[in-house]
This record gives sequence, structure tokens and C-alpha cells, in this order.
Amino acid sequence: MKYLTEFHDPALARRLLDTIAATARRRWTVMEVCGGQTHAIIRHGLDQFLADQVEFIHGPGCPVCVTPLEMIDRALAIAARPEVIFCSFGDMLRVPGSETDLFSVRARGGDVRVVYSPLDAVRIAENNRDRQVVFFAVGFETTAPAAAMAAVTARRRWLTNFSMLVSHVLVPPAMEAVLAAPDNRVAAFLAAGHVCTVMGTEQYEPLVATFRTPVVVTGFEPLDVLEGVRHAVEQLESGRAELANAYPRAVRPEGNPAARMILADVFTVCDRAWRGIGTIPRSGWRLSPAWADLDAETRFDVADVRVAEPAACHSGEVLRGLLRPPDCPAFGTACTPRRPLGATMVSAEGACAAYFQYRRLAPAGPSTPAVDRD
Ligand code: SF4
Repeated sequence: MKYLTEFHDPALARRLLDTIAATARRRWTVMEVCGGQTHAIIRHGLDQFLADQVEFIHGPGCPVCVTPLEMIDRALAIAARPEVIFCSFGDMLRVPGSETDLFSVRARGGDVRVVYSPLDAVRIAENNRDRQVVFFAVGFETTAPAAAMAAVTARRRWLTNFSMLVSHVLVPPAMEAVLAAPDNRVAAFLAAGHVCTVMGTEQYEPLVATFRTPVVVTGFEPLDVLEGVRHAVEQLESGRAELANAYPRAVRPEGNPAARMILADVFTVCDRAWRGIGTIPRSGWRLSPAWADLDAETRFDVADVRVAEPAACHSGEVLRGLLRPPDCPAFGTACTPRRPLGATMVSAEGACAAYFQYRRLAPAGPSTPAVDRD
């Protein structure tokens, strides 16, 4: 049972829900591309409150979930080397590779350390000049500026023992891949507000123009998500397709120019494999030629590590909005957060983990009961 009193501002939540209900004359399919938004939707039951107006489908918005299996295996190969201190954000340690994970490598004696910032890894390199220190640089446009700053800092400090295993991904090409797929069901997108704080909003204009699909830049709080949905439904009902910013308190059209400048220097756009989806053209960043000496794939000769995704996990369909987590045969049985089969169950931001954590074992459909709107 979900209550409006759980919202920060119940009166505003009610107004937004009523506006959406009064506007929508049919049920629209809306995709969010942000793990934080996915959790807000499921935790606060927005899909249940709006069951008659909106079908939420959850796109590839969790950076841990989309990091490809072969990149995890490259990380495992590097982390197992005795001369290496391997530094990673904590949520990558449990992500299963084809045979093991970083936690297991650490249990077997590998020096795998959790860091809270890429600059922590630079400090570790400074204090361990006789060891090779590798930072696992994963994530969207949001985390990439800090990784770029780590590269700049390491070079300024003449650290020759620091490198990065880079697997950064870019959101707009993934949205384009979803829209271009023959089985696309998305009528409107909620774009990830935190990505736009860095990159701005102009990158979505070609998507809106080409696919005639509304894109609404949206924050993470449940009220932010409702405001984003309100914008999207109003556009859909009036036949418009526009780029709208429903998160103006954080997002400026130009994004963060200083962050964009350092990103353009350190990284260059490349084709990137997305876990469960496959390779999406020009959807990632790798180190630019001027920074290639920091590339851990080359330094440790792991670029040729290639593996196939396990057939048992349907996370690729989940990440493209074709399958809701509770509809996966393994959900909650063979696959749980304690024993995950796929990255969307491992990561705290993953859609499968969100449904499991909030005990949402059945999808919300039209006129879903068990919602107390007051
Ligand atoms: S429930 Fe588990 S097996 Fe099914 S798609 Fe999600 S992560 Fe994969």
C-alpha cells in the first residue's frame, strides 16, 4: 500500500497526479534512463498511482548494469596480477564476470580496493610508487569528469604507475538505439537530470527531431519524476514532441562547460558494448590519443578478452524495456540480490534489484489496486 503522505509535499504530489490523470486520455509508455529514477518510481509506487495513465519501462540507466561482461573479465584479469592495486567503486565488486567477481579475486589475495573518488586512486598511486595502480572508470557522463580529472592529476604529479580501465558510456546513443529498434515501445523519454547537469540539453535535440519523441529532462525525487511525467503526457496528448527541462533548478542548457572541456581533452568517443544489448555505435568514451599512455587495457594487454553473455539472464530485454523484471522466469527464485544471475540484480541501481527490494513481485497494470491515493 502506497500513501501520498510518504511524499515530501503530499499536496503537490496530489496536484501533479490529478493533472496527469485529467490530461491523459489513454495509457502512455514512458521510459526513464536513470537508475535513481527507477528506484523512485518503484519505491514510491508511482507506477501504481499512475497505473491507468502511464506504463513505466526502465531503460539502460544503471552504469553498473550496462558494463559489458568482457570489460568485467578484463578488470578481473588485471586485478589478479600481483603487482597491481586495483581500485573500483564498491558496487562493481559483486558484479559477476564470466567465472568470478572482484570480491573473489580479493579473497584469493588480489589487492582490490574500494574508492569513493578516482582521486583516491591517484593518492594510492602516489603512496605506492613500486606498484601499478589501476582505476576502473565506469559510468555515464556524470562520473566521467572525475575520472578525467584523475588522469590530469596523475600526469601533473608525474605518476607513471597510474592507469585507468575505461568503460564510460553515453546516454543519448543508447536512447537512439532504443528508439530505432523495430520493437520500440517508447512514446516519451524522461532523460536523466544528473547527466544533463554535465552535458546540457542540446544533445537531445536531434533525437526529438528525428524520432518525433518527447524528451523531458527530469530529476530523481518522486515529485521530480511526476513533474517530468506531467510534461511528457501533456506533449503526447497534444501531439507535440519537444525537448523540455523539468529540472531547471539543476540543469542549464549548456551543462557544465568546465567539465565538458576536460572531458573533450581526456576522452574520445568510441563504439561501446552495452551488457545485454550489444555494441552501440559512438556510445562510449575511451582515452584520447594524447592520454593513451594511461590506458590499462594496453598496459596489461587485456584488450582481446572477449566473452559471450550468459543465456539464462534476460537483463538485455529488461534494459531495452521489453521485459519487466517480475516477468523474468528467474526473478526472485534462481536470481536474487544474494545470488544474482545478472547485473540488473547486482547493482543497487538495477531495475531487477529495485523490484526485489521493494517487494514488487507483480507488474502494475491498468487499474492496479492496493494504492491509497491519500
Ligand atoms: S531477474 Fe535476474 S536473471 Fe532475470 S533479468 Fe533480472 S538479473 Fe537477469
